[in-house]
Amino acid sequence: CKVVKPKNEEVLSYLPGSKERISLKAKLKEMQKTSMELPLIIDGKEVHTGKMGTCIIPHHKEHVLATYHMAGEKEVERAIQAALKAKKEWENTPWEHRISVFLKAAELISQPWRDTLNAATMLGQSKTVYEADADSACEIQDFFRYNSYFVSQILQEQPECIPGIFNRIEYRPLEGFVFAVTPFNFTAIGGNLPSTPAMVGNTVVWKPASSAIYSNYFLMKVLQEAGLPDGVINFIPGPGNVVGPMVMSHKMLAGIHFTGSTETFNHMWRTVAQNLGNYIGYPRIVGETGGKDFVFAHHSADIDALVTALVFGGFSFQGQKCSATSRVYIPHSIWPSVKNKLLDQVSTIKLGDVEDFTNFMGAVIDQNAFNSIKSYIDYARTSDEAEIIFGGKCDDRVGFFIEPTVIVTTNPRFKTMEEEIFGPVVTIYVYKDQELEEALDLCEQTSKYALTGAIFSQDRKAIIDMEKRLSNAAGNLYINDRTTGAFVGLQPFGGARASGTNEKVGSKQNVSRWMSPRTIKETF
Ligand code: GLU
Repeated sequence: CKVVKPKNEEVLSYLPGSKERISLKAKLKEMQKTSMELPLIIDGKEVHTGKMGTCIIPHHKEHVLATYHMAGEKEVERAIQAALKAKKEWENTPWEHRISVFLKAAELISQPWRDTLNAATMLGQSKTVYEADADSACEIQDFFRYNSYFVSQILQEQPECIPGIFNRIEYRPLEGFVFAVTPFNFTAIGGNLPSTPAMVGNTVVWKPASSAIYSNYFLMKVLQEAGLPDGVINFIPGPGNVVGPMVMSHKMLAGIHFTGSTETFNHMWRTVAQNLGNYIGYPRIVGETGGKDFVFAHHSADIDALVTALVFGGFSFQGQKCSATSRVYIPHSIWPSVKNKLLDQVSTIKLGDVEDFTNFMGAVIDQNAFNSIKSYIDYARTSDEAEIIFGGKCDDRVGFFIEPTVIVTTNPRFKTMEEEIFGPVVTIYVYKDQELEEALDLCEQTSKYALTGAIFSQDRKAIIDMEKRLSNAAGNLYINDRTTGAFVGLQPFGGARASGTNEKVGSKQNVSRWMSPRTIKETF
């Protein structure tokens, strides 16, 4: 069977009066009426531990959307055993049947699950309707369809045969089970990280971020409805310090598929290193972590395009994307017009409850995030190297609201130019036009991260030069566009340095990481 190259799904309009708007609004109401109790799902069965956590609405922090059962050591062991037990049959299931499960899940997400996933993402993660639809409806479908397509392509890659010798490659899964650890900021990543290894015959223990359990639980239900056999993916929310050490010290750990903080990823590498020799192989570690993503403008930049990119790249989803724009280099000659237009645009941003579809921003995810982002803003407020030219207000009385904040600094290595904030804070450094080279050096060297970046210019020679000069600063480089919003299959996503192992989610390369090929030579 040949899987046809898919097309990326498009976000629906949700215009007033539209069918999709009416049904999503109804779903949002319905889902807030009762508080659900979410179980773990191990070996296809619901498991209740009685040790409970809560899912709240970040923009209405007193509203408990759901409570969830947390895994303890017993459940972690059960999940690993379930994955190992399911492995035999799943790895021997013909690949067409394996990908069928995910292709069917994509159809189910398109309908009838779209409203539920979108409403869960809006309520649980405070995403606006368009961000939720792009994430929990479109991007997940894209991951499932593109990865299925990549599987079919990889399997066709076979060595040549010569007379008397028949060579072939058998694309086996890894030996053992895979640990998927997923973040709060994209429901789609929750869908992708456990599914990609599973598609090629692995079985998985999945620990979702505690602040995304609500939407991720529904995703697990979709996979089950699509026919995912019991035990292939085991959903175990729980405290990282209970789940992590047990899973990562298990002899049969074959791989880790991770998106989250650099700190956690570093900790995972150390844990694996400490256990080397106890595993049956070398666990594959694939991860995408933090970013300190830049926009570098040349004096020839189109100012309107640049300003729009700063607003969308810096402030959509409250800046809680690894790819969010957070450090900006602008030449002195265009700064006055950039500043005026930026202040104009940013002052139109509406912040509030995402159930009001006219709001552009919701709340940040939780109290810890709020406190941490606020501390960066306070630091800038009291520094004589920085000025807050817009925003800066933080208010957590009702929900975790932080205004879009623009800081201008005279120090290109100012704290908010260097450290990942993961919030709606953009810091700008204005460089002298005649010091373009030095500014490029700063941009290339300032950050320990290298995830995304954008250059703005209308001068082809300058674009070529900047692209070369910034060659290690980003795994995804945008020319005249914002630093966020990579499309699955079209702009494979990931970065190097402290941003991860750069094994591009949504690519053939990533899919192949979950395979352990066997080369077979037969002589006649
Ligand atoms: N893929 C997303 C983008 O291009 C970012 C994912 C992340 O934040 O981890 O904006």
